[in-house]
Amino acid sequence: MAEFCLKCWNELNDTNYPERKYILSETLEMCEECGKMTNVIVAERRFCFVFKRVKIKKRSKENNDY
Ligand SMILES: [Zn+2]
Repeated sequence: MAEFCLKCWNELNDTNYPERKYILSETLEMCEECGKMTNVIVAERRFCFVFKRVKIKKRSKENNDY
């Protein structure tokens, strides 16, 4: 899979997306366009899991009255 930094990715796609739209690599990878060691785009945010906080009310109260 080709890996590009945000700058090159925007130039290739003729877009100007902000960094927060994407998930960038935590480690430095080589951008295949500019050849620099940088944080490359790993995935788009919209493919990321959306963590919905589901509140589960536990009805099981421990009433151990002896
Ligand atoms: Zn680049």
